[in-house]
Amino acid sequence: MSDFRTLDDIGDDFGDLRGKVALVRIDLNLPMNGGQVTDKTRIVASAPTILELADAGAKVLLLAHFGRPKGARNSMMSLSMVVDAVQDVLGREIMFVPEVAGDIVAQSLGIMRPGDVSILENTRFWPGEEANDPAFAKAMAANGDLYVNDAFSAAHRAHASTEGLARLLPSYAGRSMQKELDALDKALGNPEKPVAAVVGGAKVSSKLDVLKHLVTKVDHLIIGGGMANTFLAARGVDVGKSLCEHDLTSTAEEIMEAADKSGCTVHLPYDVVVSKEFAANPASLRTCNVHEVAADEMILDVGPQAVEALGDVLKTCRTLVWNGPMGAFETEPFDAATVALARTAAALSKEGSLVSVAGGGDTVAALNHAGVAQDFTYISTAGGAFLEWMEGKELPGVAALSQ
Ligand code: ADP
Ligand code: MG
Repeated sequence: MSDFRTLDDIGDDFGDLRGKVALVRIDLNLPMNGGQVTDKTRIVASAPTILELADAGAKVLLLAHFGRPKGARNSMMSLSMVVDAVQDVLGREIMFVPEVAGDIVAQSLGIMRPGDVSILENTRFWPGEEANDPAFAKAMAANGDLYVNDAFSAAHRAHASTEGLARLLPSYAGRSMQKELDALDKALGNPEKPVAAVVGGAKVSSKLDVLKHLVTKVDHLIIGGGMANTFLAARGVDVGKSLCEHDLTSTAEEIMEAADKSGCTVHLPYDVVVSKEFAANPASLRTCNVHEVAADEMILDVGPQAVEALGDVLKTCRTLVWNGPMGAFETEPFDAATVALARTAAALSKEGSLVSVAGGGDTVAALNHAGVAQDFTYISTAGGAFLEWMEGKELPGVAALSQ
C-alpha cells in the first residue's frame, strides 16, 4: 500500500529544484465567517510541504477547491479570500492567480522567482475538475514540472487536481499526506496486534461498510453510541425509546456472525446510562443493566462498568482505531463514557504501549472535549476520506500516487 513516493525522492528525479514549477494540491476548504478564515489548521498542516519546496527553489503553485461552485465562477467561493490567511501561516508574501491553466498562469510564472508561492483559483470553477477531464488536467499540467498531493482529505475523490494530474506529471506525496498514510498503515494496513476498533456514533446505516470491513481486520470491535442499540436489539434486548434502526437488526446479526468467523470479539455495553428526556442532567437520569431499560427510556451513553471493562480490553491491545463517540457526548453527562475511554487510550498511547489513530468530525470534537487529542498517536481530520479508508476502500488520489 505505502509504495508512494515522497518529497525525499524528488532529488533523484530532478537533481536541483531551482526554478522548477511544483503544482501542489492542498486542502483550502477552510471554515469561513464573514469573509474571514476562522480555523487555519489545514493551512498549518500543509505549510511544511510548501516551505520545503519553496526553500529548495521551486516556484510553488497551490491548487485547491473551495465549496461547491458546480463548475462555474462564483465570487463568493474565490480562493482570493484565503490569501491573507495563507500568508499569515507561511510568514511570506504570496500572489493570487485567478486561473488554474493557460497563459495567465504562464505569465505569472514569468514574474515569480524561485521560491515564490502563488495560489491558483478554485479548481471547481471549471467543470473538468470534478469530471476528471483529461484535457483539463493536461492544461493544468502544461504549466508544471512536478505534482505534489498534500490533501489526504480530498483523496477519496477522483478529480483532475487530486487524481488526473498524478497521471501526467512526476508525482509525490507531500509531508502531511505522507504522515497520514503512514499513520493509517500502522493502524490498519500493517498493525501490531492485537488490534481494537472503537466504532460509535448515531447510526449503523452510516457505518455499515466500516463495520463489515473492521470485523475482518481487528481482534476486538467495541461498539458504542446509538449504533450499539441496534446491535443490542438484534440480541433481543428491549431498548425502549432509544435511537435504534430496527430494520437493520438482521444486518447487525450478520456482522456479529462474520466477526465470529474471523475471530473478532464484538463488545457491546452491558450497563447503560438512560433518561426519559434528552436534556442536560435530566431528573430521570439513571444507570442500569441493558435488560432493565424501561419502555419510556432512552440509552444515551455506555455505563461505567462497561467502560471499565473496555479500558481493560485496550490495555491488552497494541493498536487502536477509533471512529464515533460512545454516547451523546455534546450533552452532559452523556459524555462520560467517551471521555473516560478516550483518557485510557491517551494514557496508554503516552506510555508507548498503544498506537492510537482516531478520525471523524464528531470524534475529533469529542477527543478535544476530553482534552486528550494531543496524546493520541495520530488524529485524522479528513472526514469522508478517513471513513472510506476505514471501509477498506482504495482512495483514487492515493492510488494515483502509487503508480
Ligand atoms: P463522526 O462524525 O465522528 O463520524 P457520527 O457523526 O457517526 O461520528 O456520530 C456522532 C453523533 O452520534 C453525535 O452527535 C452523538 O450525539 C450521536 N450519538 C452517540 N451516541 C448516541 C446515542 N446513544 N443516542 C443518540 N445519539 C447518539
Ligand atoms: Mg458526524
